[in-house]
Amino acid sequence: MTRSALVTGGNRGIGLAIARELAAGGDAVAVTHRSGEPPEGLFGVQCDITDSAQVDAAFKRVEEEQGPVEVLVANAGITKDQLLALMSEDDFSSVLDTNLTGAFRVAKRAVRGMMRKRTGRIILTSSVVGLMGSAGQANYAASKAGLVGFARSLARELGSRNITVNVVAPGFIETDMTAALPEERQAEIKKNIPLGRYGSTEEIAKTVRFLASEDAAYITGAVIPVDGGLGMGH
Ligand code: NDP
Repeated sequence: MTRSALVTGGNRGIGLAIARELAAGGDAVAVTHRSGEPPEGLFGVQCDITDSAQVDAAFKRVEEEQGPVEVLVANAGITKDQLLALMSEDDFSSVLDTNLTGAFRVAKRAVRGMMRKRTGRIILTSSVVGLMGSAGQANYAASKAGLVGFARSLARELGSRNITVNVVAPGFIETDMTAALPEERQAEIKKNIPLGRYGSTEEIAKTVRFLASEDAAYITGAVIPVDGGLGMGH
């Protein structure tokens, strides 16, 4: 049966790989894009997840096009790295507003239809640094750790409605976000990854596809690391 799926930030990077993977599995997939054009072959809706009205409008368009969202992947995220002493309040709050409150906005809107249908899959994209911490990323790590508490609370609230809520915690993945890191920093990072390499966007996408599938029906409130072993022990 074709399900209605929505991936935020699905126009590039990890989100795009997730959208393509879900589409390959037979879902009707919509992606939100904040800027630029939607990716070819996927239904795109323009949406800035820091704006509730835009989130509501995007969901309405997706509902008209492919029905109420049954699989939500809250993937959109930003970084504004800085050491604490130099971090402005705006750097902190804007990262929280996008990464954590953004997930709240889309999950809240998606749950409406899921509760009515008594089925749903919510997958949130956290990060290994949400569990390990990361110097220079206090805002980002706090937002990604916040997603874990958020997901686990939703898992408890929504389990009786047959809605699962899980978190994927990627390590370092080959995307624009990691390409922006200086080369020496990239080499240093790889030394600490047991598998000795960055992950691919497809490796995240396949885990999300599993969590969204019937095979994962009994998994909720879980944090699944896909990080080459970088964060193990948490
Ligand atoms: P990219 O920077 O490549 O893409 C980020 C996506 O989020 C883009 O589609 C971007 O839209 C969208 N986005 C950002 N802000 C908003 C907003 N306010 N409203 C709507 N969309 C927004 O990131 P990645 O693909 O690398 O990362 C995807 C997710 O995975 C993020 O949550 C990130 O934190 C997480 N992650 C990434 C890791 C990595 O190594 N790359 C590691 C661990 C976690 P636009 O194109 O318009 O800017």
